[in-house]
Amino acid sequence: MEIFKTNSEVAAYVKAKKALGKKVGFVPTMGFLHEGHMSLVAMSKQTADVTITSIYVNPSQFNDKGDFLSYPKNEERDLLLLRQNGCDAVYMPDVDQIEQMPLCDVDLEGVDEEMEGEFRPGHFKGVVEVVYRLFTAVNPDIAIFGEKDYQQLMVIQKMVEQTRLPVRIVGAPIVREPNGLAKSSRNVRLSENAFKEAGFIYTALKQYTSVGESATKSTLKSKNFDVEYLRLYTFNESQRLFVAGYLEGVRLIDNILVD
Ligand code: AMP
Repeated sequence: MEIFKTNSEVAAYVKAKKALGKKVGFVPTMGFLHEGHMSLVAMSKQTADVTITSIYVNPSQFNDKGDFLSYPKNEERDLLLLRQNGCDAVYMPDVDQIEQMPLCDVDLEGVDEEMEGEFRPGHFKGVVEVVYRLFTAVNPDIAIFGEKDYQQLMVIQKMVEQTRLPVRIVGAPIVREPNGLAKSSRNVRLSENAFKEAGFIYTALKQYTSVGESATKSTLKSKNFDVEYLRLYTFNESQRLFVAGYLEGVRLIDNILVD
């Protein structure tokens, strides 16, 4: 597996692969990888000939500095997982490499204002900045994003439409723990007990259509989940139920399709 630290190295690699007629798939991540990330690598491997994963914890998308500083890291384990899962190359730029890439100016048509946009001011601006810069550096044919961050997926789709970058955005289903908790790098911050119990979030989402909003909120609150929002939202004609909140001070998000 190749490891690149600079824009010029990754660009040269991609150029060489494309010259051979290969399609390049790209999986942007912030590291501390788990099976959710690996499902994106697997999807890239199914749809493209070459898979590049990036690991970059983007300071500009954290509205909470403490959250950024305490974001978990384990580079050695990440690289091992990526190797084991057949990733071809990893891009691990430092902040200087990212910041020398141009920015884009886009109108996200309000997709960035609700839910995560409302509760994490500036978050999507930071996401769009870094993903545009990574796309410009890597120049992939396909990029895979998880439905775990469904609103982010929509924001990236809008950004690509507006900037006309020649990259196809593909969404991948949420990978969950056996108890239903959506896998997340942040889950390690939960106590053993909270981690074991946290499947109640997914269970509550699934019961929403039969019990309604206030009963769902009460259930979540009764389990000490401090709800930020619980909202039905329609993206691309499909209605989803979104939730965000804090369990033991750890911010968790989830969503399900509502038919
Ligand atoms: P992150 O490292 O948290 O920025 O996530 C990188 C990518 O992995 C994003 O596209 C996420 O949506 C995706 N991802 C994270 N957790 C999961 C999960 N449990 N299932 C599917 N995709 C995920």
